[in-house]
Amino acid sequence: MGFAKFYPYYEEARILKKGKIGNAEAFLVDASSAYKIEHAILKQNPKFALCDRDECESCRLFVTLKLLEPVRYAKSRLKRVAG
Ligand SMILES: [Zn+2]
Repeated sequence: MGFAKFYPYYEEARILKKGKIGNAEAFLVDASSAYKIEHAILKQNPKFALCDRDECESCRLFVTLKLLEPVRYAKSRLKRVAG
């Protein structure tokens, strides 16, 4: 879910094309151009592409760069259990 954070940067660089495939929204970017943008952003902030959902197991638990993210995830689980 955090990957969409790159879209404004793609738009700014005018590499994001939007359309529809059937009823689904579709996005197209040139991979080489997108990579250059993503590399520059992630070099500054390796966590940039993570989503903001505390309860997201993927973003909170499975990337080694996120040393404090498991704590954030555990707190969200405890809140859910506590009601
Ligand atoms: Zn996530």
